[in-house]
Amino acid sequence: MSLGAGAGAVTEIRDICHLIGGQAVASAEGKTFETRDPHDNSVIGTVARGSAVDGERAVAAARKAFDEGPWPGMTPTERRKILHDVADAVDAHREELAMLETVDSGKIIRQALHGEMPRVAQNLRFFADYAAMATDEAYPNGPVLGYSLRPPAGVVSAISPWNAPLMLATWKAAPALAFGNTVVLKPAPQTPLTAARFGELATAAGLPEGVLNIVHGFGADEVAGPLTSDPRVDRITFTGSSATGARIMAAAAPHLTPVSAELGGKSANIVFDDADLDVAVPESIKAIFGGNGQVCFSGSRLFVQRGILPAFLERFTAEAEKIVVGDPKRHETFMGPLIEQRHLDKVQGYVDLAQKEGGTVLTGGSPVTTGELSRGFYYAPTVITGLTNDTRTAQEEIFGPVETVIPFDTEQEALRLANSSPYGLAGILFTTNLDRAHRMAAHWKAGTVWVNCYFERDLRMPFGGEGISGVGREGGPHSREFFTEPRAVVLRI
Ligand code: NAD
Repeated sequence: MSLGAGAGAVTEIRDICHLIGGQAVASAEGKTFETRDPHDNSVIGTVARGSAVDGERAVAAARKAFDEGPWPGMTPTERRKILHDVADAVDAHREELAMLETVDSGKIIRQALHGEMPRVAQNLRFFADYAAMATDEAYPNGPVLGYSLRPPAGVVSAISPWNAPLMLATWKAAPALAFGNTVVLKPAPQTPLTAARFGELATAAGLPEGVLNIVHGFGADEVAGPLTSDPRVDRITFTGSSATGARIMAAAAPHLTPVSAELGGKSANIVFDDADLDVAVPESIKAIFGGNGQVCFSGSRLFVQRGILPAFLERFTAEAEKIVVGDPKRHETFMGPLIEQRHLDKVQGYVDLAQKEGGTVLTGGSPVTTGELSRGFYYAPTVITGLTNDTRTAQEEIFGPVETVIPFDTEQEALRLANSSPYGLAGILFTTNLDRAHRMAAHWKAGTVWVNCYFERDLRMPFGGEGISGVGREGGPHSREFFTEPRAVVLRI
């Protein structure tokens, strides 16, 4: 591990309002909360703290825009033009948005600038194009013709987490909008800045008022309550923890409001003895330490075939120790700070627990407090051996830069270990045996299986998880299925 040099503080403190019915508004009760830079814990924004009244107002504005506004009645091609204009605005403000994301979330600037902001624009363009170009079913059957219509579902609540703030917010809002819905978006309270700026850009780019509403604040007792329990909401799309997902589904149940839930993970990363270690080592490093392990997909249970365990561990640990931990605003930094003190305490708690459960910390295992990092929430890349898969450390989502390495002997055992988890989000596999790769993929309890790669995405493919990792799938046709109300029309000619 080495330390990235500092890159100057961000001094401007922003005032963040809700966006409701096209207007920037303060909270009905006048309350605010602070958002902080996890690099040095400085305040970077004062944010409207929404109450249930604000949530209800936003739902009402979205309802009005859906029932009375032009958006749902536009052709997909008309909506496509506006969403492309919004994407162009995101591209034009990429550097500003990326820096906001970095100071608000601790995400490294490289990832924000070259990964996530381009993906925000891609989310918009992809779903706008998909909706405009999608084909549909028609069944001529003698004198009877059947065909499908897909009107928009209505008002969509989109609730997103802090780990990839604007990328995940638009992964939900973009398809909802493209298929003709109106949206109430609630970003995570830790990271409101980019969503707020996105709202301004989208409004300026021509999104009609009330089509995208953005409210800030906290969970069920505050602004998020009406977003999940109001009968005027037709769909809820949520990304976040499995525990919150369960609470949202319970809140939605009385009105039978459909929920799409993309939840937590504890994904297995399996390295066979025939793997190309020049690929497996760097990809495995990315899979746990990329994004600080604060990634739902993280390969946080690393299973290595016994014969190559010593050689693999030596290389893997050496690479972990070379990782540059530092100010996320610096381009050479690979790991920035964790999101907040509470989360750092949680990560440390799991590393302590691992040792009580019999684990050995090979590297890392403590916060990084050197020099200018002393006020931030930095944690060293951590590698732990000596645990079994049934320990709490190996079963519970840590969501931090902590890898547990566990040996296995056979393919059957590897698959059994991978599937021995309540989660089922992703699987990562390194092997040069193609037959084995197909066999494993066919039996893996995981929404996505990556073979000899990690984090490659195709937005047309189903995205989601099994078990407590999620309910439903989004992406291409799967998003269309969720955000529309497919209707069968049967006509006698
Ligand atoms: P979280 O569940 O604490 O919060 C997510 C969002 O839900 C926030 O906006 C929060 O304010 C809101 N919320 C909290 N309680 C609510 C309630 N009762 N009703 C409505 N909204 C409520 O999750 P987090 O800590 O922000 O994010 C980390 C989690 O997200 C991890 O578990 C991670 O695996 C998961 N995640 C999953 C995916 C995926 O695609 N499967 C992607 C990213 C993150």
